[in-house]
Amino acid sequence: MNVLIPQRPALYCRLSYAPDGSLEKVERQEADGRAMGSRLDWPDFCCVYVDNSRSAWQRNRKRPDWDRMLLTLDADSGRLVPADPKANHHHDGIMTYHGDRLIRQPYDLELLLNIADTRRIPLASVSGVRDLSNPDDRFILRIEAAQACRESDNTSRRVKRALGARAERGLTQVGGARPFGFGVQVGTRVKTDPETGEEVEMPLYDTTRQVPEEARLVADAVEKQIAGLSQNGVVKWLNAQCTTTTGGPWTTKTWRDYVLRPRIAGLIEHNGELRQAAWDGLITEDAWRDVKALYDRSSSAYPYAGRERRYLLSTVAECGGCGSVMRGRPVGGQDKPHRRTRYTQYYCPTCKKVSRKTDHVDSYVQGRVLRVLHDPRFARELRAAEEAQAPGVSAQIADLERRKAEKTRQLEELADDPDLDMGLAMRALASFDRKITALRAQMDASAGQRRLQRYVGISVEEWMDLPVEVRSTVVRDLFQVVILPTSRRGPGFDPATVRMTRRRP
Ligand SMILES: [Zn+2]
Ligand SMILES: [Zn+2]
Repeated sequence: MNVLIPQRPALYCRLSYAPDGSLEKVERQEADGRAMGSRLDWPDFCCVYVDNSRSAWQRNRKRPDWDRMLLTLDADSGRLVPADPKANHHHDGIMTYHGDRLIRQPYDLELLLNIADTRRIPLASVSGVRDLSNPDDRFILRIEAAQACRESDNTSRRVKRALGARAERGLTQVGGARPFGFGVQVGTRVKTDPETGEEVEMPLYDTTRQVPEEARLVADAVEKQIAGLSQNGVVKWLNAQCTTTTGGPWTTKTWRDYVLRPRIAGLIEHNGELRQAAWDGLITEDAWRDVKALYDRSSSAYPYAGRERRYLLSTVAECGGCGSVMRGRPVGGQDKPHRRTRYTQYYCPTCKKVSRKTDHVDSYVQGRVLRVLHDPRFARELRAAEEAQAPGVSAQIADLERRKAEKTRQLEELADDPDLDMGLAMRALASFDRKITALRAQMDASAGQRRLQRYVGISVEEWMDLPVEVRSTVVRDLFQVVILPTSRRGPGFDPATVRMTRRRP
């Protein structure tokens, strides 16, 4: 084999753990790389690339330096990055400390081989020098990568199995920050920082036990949200009480992610299936489903639900001219000096033909809403709807999920049986899914009724004290509100120009 000596080689290092668990220092990798380079008569390394990745074989892990190095190997100068001193010139050889561990993912290797297709690029390591354009070397590299990939697949299968076993026992979460509402400290553990190699003592929590003050806050916050307070409102309230477990403020994102996790309802999800966890929930499963339904609903039907509400009927009222949702806005005042009074109105942003002053519409609509809430027939209606609902829906769902899991396990055991009718088996599983979906829909529909239940018989004063977004939600639960076009001008308000249709539970 003729020896290929690069003019501008680069060194690629990767921080990783040595078999004894200690961190391999970059300096040592560099020194070893230089020693190897001088044995091969290579010139000094032009650039040194270092990535932190501990799991180099995972395809979706970010390795910025690896990507930068690939750019510099490409014959195409157009891909260089002029502003980046480590990516604005070419290299023609790679030294790697890890040898066969450089490329653990066949996909990465193919990328590198593609780039090296037209150029002779030596790839050197302690195990020797490979020429990336030599077919024999390419063949060997591919086999090595495939082997490394399989090894790590085996590792991740082991990890998955271990996680599965934890789930069987109703446990979840290994490592990570303490979940809010849970975690009684039971000791400490020593953790090594992967970046610096520094050892830090970390508290060790039993996350199956609740932190009472936090548990109460979560229950309160969820209750407020189900009652109709917006996500923003909940987050604002929560931030006045506490921080997250990492000491940061709550954001709509952290709250949303947190509240949608089955953990807070004492459930865990395993293979897309909910089961009872080893801990008690901070809120009931029904409350959790209610708040989940709220998010499902607001993302599809009410795109502006996240924003703080100022107008009772903004995005609730529909335009009678074109059917789109109407918005609220201020009119007159400073921006229109010729209008002496400043007021607010609902307007249709789509056809722009329909608008109405907010105060008249708001008081008319709220009057109708209060009339319903005070009507004994309405209370009866809600009760009837509640009774019509099959009892123990969540228990039924849990039961179906358990049976489905059992069936799936049986099928997995029988998978190699030539007599097994796969089509039949799949249909059996699908029928479980159908039943579960139907029951879930039933639970979600009852969320709206439970919300209304708490406002039955409310006094006018209590009603007006509710945040505008709560009132807005109740209006939406009870009525479809359509503001009709009118040619009428001047003061006053004609109720006939607002059409309100009761929604049935
Ligand atoms: Zn360089
Ligand atoms: Zn319109």
